[in-house]
Amino acid sequence: MSRLKSGEIRHVDLKALDLFGRWRHITLPAHEVDEETFRKGVPFDGSSFPGYRSIEESDMLMLPDPETAFVDPFSGAATLSLLTDIYEPNGTRYGRDPRGVAQRAAAYLRATGVADTAYFGPELEFFIFDGVRFELRANASSYAIDSAEAEWAAGEAGAMGQAFQAKAAYFATAPQDQSGPVRNAMADALEAAGIVVERHHHEVGGPGQGEMNIRFADLVGAADNVLKVKYIVRNVAHQHGRTATFMPKPVFGENGSGMHVHQSLFLNGANRFYDADGYAGLSALARAYIAGILSHGPALVALTNPTTNSYKRLVPGYEAPIYLAFSSANRSAAIRVPVGVRDAKGARIEFRTPDASCNPYLAFAAVVMAGLDGIERGLEPERLGFGPVEKDIYHLPAAEAAKLRQVPGSLAESLNALEEDHAFLLKGGVFSEDLIAVWIREKREEARRLAMRPTPEEFALYFTA
Ligand code: GLU
Ligand code: MG
Repeated sequence: MSRLKSGEIRHVDLKALDLFGRWRHITLPAHEVDEETFRKGVPFDGSSFPGYRSIEESDMLMLPDPETAFVDPFSGAATLSLLTDIYEPNGTRYGRDPRGVAQRAAAYLRATGVADTAYFGPELEFFIFDGVRFELRANASSYAIDSAEAEWAAGEAGAMGQAFQAKAAYFATAPQDQSGPVRNAMADALEAAGIVVERHHHEVGGPGQGEMNIRFADLVGAADNVLKVKYIVRNVAHQHGRTATFMPKPVFGENGSGMHVHQSLFLNGANRFYDADGYAGLSALARAYIAGILSHGPALVALTNPTTNSYKRLVPGYEAPIYLAFSSANRSAAIRVPVGVRDAKGARIEFRTPDASCNPYLAFAAVVMAGLDGIERGLEPERLGFGPVEKDIYHLPAAEAAKLRQVPGSLAESLNALEEDHAFLLKGGVFSEDLIAVWIREKREEARRLAMRPTPEEFALYFTA
């Protein structure tokens, strides 16, 4: 408030979230903001936010959360940005507000007595392209990606012999890595916004794939940070005349972009996932948490991988985790126990399946609820056939591979699984039947749009049928 009054900040930008994880914003001159703004909120039309209200009951309120303030470097003038919580006009919390779901999941975790804090460390992968075009017409549809770093650019006029072969760009250096300065600028902007960047690098994908790793935070804070990273990464790319995307599989034949999520549970400062004598330094409680995630895996991915494109990433051969199994180091397993951090402070699991097309509040809340369900039911991953699998799962003998369960092959399948299996999300009133029903309805509609449109691949296969 003192920064507002000092005149240092001239605009206050309130960011509110729709059900599917996209921010929208409204800006107030600083002189219009006072204590009342934080108490009573700012009205908006919920019917224009995807997944929220119908037109006849559309009035809603967004209340800024002062803890989330950051100076927005993309607004052209001294602008303070705040994330908001969504309320009904009568002052009750709106049940579909995703931030509210995450807050209730954190409260439910505390109420179980299992832990007081769930820590989440997300790793965000994304592509930085030079340009992207697409069109959708009744008689034609197309997309085209430009990237000077990509294999397909190697033979173009003016090429300098620096393009990557497909899937060959991991940790690459300049001049092949043409995105290094852009990633540095992204890291600077993130740090200026209060997010600690631990490292970033060129990822395996030749056409400008990068990864940004940020410091872990609690459930709600980590979800806030994911949206800040997406916003800042996209905007810095734009400022550099490039375009960044978190779409899970934008390039055929290349690695996709995931959002691996490191997790641990702490109680009174002690890591409940650590046991020096346990498998890979994990406690029985951590293994039950793993079993909860894997046994609810098919339903869970409807929230952690909620786009039709997500399932184009979850295929063999691209380091994507397609098996519902855990492993001490294997990248094709849904859950990996990272090596090198197996001590009382660092012991954790890495859930590799999610991608950044999710709404991180719903995704993280759902993952915690699945893990807690595993703990409450005392599940053991070994007895349920979830591993541990130490061999490269992509190359397992067919008989062994057949014993492992896979993640669903499509959004439609995962939505069916969520419809069948969501009681674990309703505990403690964390998710509601209403939210799940709307999610399934809207996401089925997306899948239907895709299913109705002929694609070039179908012309190749069937035009002469
Ligand atoms: N990009 C891969 C994925 O889709 C993961 C690569 C890695 O292990 O970092 O999840
Ligand atoms: Mg990676």
